[in-house]
Formats: sequence, structure tokens, C-alpha cells
Amino acid sequence: MLWPQSPMPEAEHMEITELPTEGYERVVKAHDPESGLRAIISVYDTTLGPAVGGLRMWPYESEEDALFDVLRLSKGMAYKSAVAHTGMGGGKAVIIGDPAAIKSEELYLAMGRFIDSLDGLYYTAEDVNTRVRDLEVIRRATPYVTGLARESGGSGNPSPYTAYGVYLGIRAALGWRFGSDDPKGRSVVIQGVGAVGSEICYRLRDAGAHVFVADPKTEKVAAAVDQWGAEEIVEEDVLVADADVLAPCALGAIIDDNTLPGLRCKIIAGATNNPLLDARHGEELKDRGILYAPDYVINSGGIINVACEFEDDGYDESNAIRRIERIPQALRELWTIAKAEDIPPSRAADRLAEKILAEAAVTPESPNPV
Ligand code: NAD
Repeated sequence: MLWPQSPMPEAEHMEITELPTEGYERVVKAHDPESGLRAIISVYDTTLGPAVGGLRMWPYESEEDALFDVLRLSKGMAYKSAVAHTGMGGGKAVIIGDPAAIKSEELYLAMGRFIDSLDGLYYTAEDVNTRVRDLEVIRRATPYVTGLARESGGSGNPSPYTAYGVYLGIRAALGWRFGSDDPKGRSVVIQGVGAVGSEICYRLRDAGAHVFVADPKTEKVAAAVDQWGAEEIVEEDVLVADADVLAPCALGAIIDDNTLPGLRCKIIAGATNNPLLDARHGEELKDRGILYAPDYVINSGGIINVACEFEDDGYDESNAIRRIERIPQALRELWTIAKAEDIPPSRAADRLAEKILAEAAVTPESPNPV
């Protein structure tokens, strides 16, 4: 459904509050009583270019939970863009609320005005529970929107590009762990068959893998089973499955002190941002011999595609595909460093991102000003 066109509501009642946060360039929250909008934008770093990151809508139990999530996600975006050399910085936005209850044209227009108040420091994009049609509404209130439909001059939905990169990353992980990157006959558990997980499911099935899927949305599981021949796995078994690959494609922080002891997979490689609750859980994965594909490297296909909108010659899909196809090599480089230095791949990735950001910070001009 496309939201109907209506005049822009007045912005004067929106309360915007700064939330100074150590290590972050800018964190702001907004409350708009008229539309019901409660949202936070976190800009982690713009040294390399304007902060780009998706807009997530989620029924957080508290503002603290939303802040925790947006801070982690925006830092992840900065690291992701740095390692993928997109020439962009990192940010993220969250809207607090149940999508089934709060989505409205007024809400998205208010979110657009909130984004616009940052004057281009932050560009938004799709994320969990927001779709391109929602971005089209936001675009009416601010130009700082990426990932719009091709017809509207954007690079389109980033999810298939993210999924393609994750699929290639899973193959790279199989190659690193087992000596062959062929998914045929390998078992993969996909946690969450939404926009990204469903596409990974299709690609892996097409390549002959045994794919097991879990999702609280039963129609998504049914589609994966009926259309692509995946098998259903109950939610309780996802993190204890004896599979070659666990591909988290739902929400973050699933690898923690409680779930780690039960893991029996050989590889963790999926789309989810921040699947490790804490950096030390990357260390424990290494100690248990589980190969980890750092989230923001393997799932960078979408942001790579979006960043191609900022190229001087405009968006070119073949350019995006070429860059996404470098993800396996980027992962192999990180696994090589991790092995040589006996550190977890997650740490190798963070070190690389921090090095790129630190080097850019001492360079007077941004390498790719937008
Ligand atoms: P989505 O909302 O389309 O799909 C997420 C799916 O996970 C939904 O179907 C949901 O029902 C399911 N889910 C929720 N809780 C679950 C649980 N406990 N167990 C199993 N399934 C559960 O989101 P998406 O766009 O596919 O993104 C998936 C993940 O990948 C998110 O963490 C997102 O941040 C990350 N990611 C997405 C992109 C992108 O381009 N869409 C890019 C980078 C990272």
C-alpha cells in the first residue's frame, strides 16, 4: 500500500533533545505528540562521509533499550562502511513502537522532519520493519534518504544485495573451514526468513544445501518450505543444531553466556547485525573452534549497493555487484589475520575498522566527500 499524499503537518510541536554520548558524534531523540513519534538517531562517526544507516521500528520495552540498540547499531554501521570502503560514515535510527499499531503517514513525515533537522549528517535507509514505501513518505519531508525505488532515483531495496553478499560469505566460510566452498550437501540453519533470510534460503537451496528455517511468522516458514524445499526447525533447536552453518538473519545479541555452551554449529555466518552480545563472546567462539564471519563485513552488500548512489556518475548496479563480490576476499583476509595473530575474526575486523577511521581522522580532507 502506498500512503496517500496529504499536506505536510507543522513541525513546531516536535521536541528534539540531545543525548550527549561519549565516543559518539551526535545522539538525538525526538518526541512528536501529534504523530506519536518517539525516535532516536545516533551518528557514530562522519569522518569518512555522512552517516548512513537504516531506520528500525521495534516495540522496545523502554527508551533505554532503544538507546542501547541504536548506539550499538550505529557503531556497527561506521565500522561496516569503513571496512567496505564505501566513503560513508555510520549512523542508525530507531522508532519506538509496535509497527502493527503505530505505522502512519504522519509518523513517517515526522520522522522525515527529525532526520532533516540534522542537515545531512545522517542519511536514512530501510531496516527491520521499515520498507521502501515508508522511505518514499520520509523523502517528502527530507532529501536525506537512500535506498529509494529505482523509479524514484534510488538504488532500490538493499536486501537482495545484502543476501547476495551473505550467500557469498557463507560459501567463503565453507571454503575456509572445509576446503570446499560448495554448499551442496552442507547443512545451514537460517534464523529468520525475512527480506534477507528468505533470499539466502533460496540461493542455498538452489546450490544444493540442506536448509533449515525458523521464524515466528509461520507464513514465512511455509513459503521457504513450499517454494524452496527448506525444512522447518523449531525455535528452541536453532542455536543448538548440529549444523555446518548457523546463519542468524533476525535480531542481534543471540550469542551470549547462556547460548554459547549449547552451540554445535561449525560456522556462524549471517545477516544479523551484532549477533555477539559482547566482544568477549567472539573470543569464546574462537576457543570453541567455531568460525565466525564478522557481521558487518559479511552483511555489507546492502550498504555497498546504497553507497553506489553517491558515485559521481550515479548508481550503476554492475559496479555494486563487482564490489559485493569482494566480500569473500575481505573475509578471507580477516580470517588470515585472526589465525596469524591468534585473535577472533571479530577483533581482527574491529581493529581494521578502527585503523581506517583513525587514519582518516588525521587526514585533513575526507577521502570521498559527498
Ligand atoms: P526482516 O524484518 O525482513 O526479517 C527478519 C525476520 O526475522 C522476520 O521474518 C521475523 O519474523 C524473524 N524473526 C524475529 N525474531 C525471530 C526469532 N526469534 N527467531 C527466528 N526468526 C525471527 O529483516 P531483514 O531485512 O531480513 O534483516 C534481518 C537481519 O539482517 C537484521 O538483523 C538486520 O539488521 C540485518 N541486516 C539487514 C540488511 C538488509 O539489507 N535488509 C542489511 C544488513 C543487516
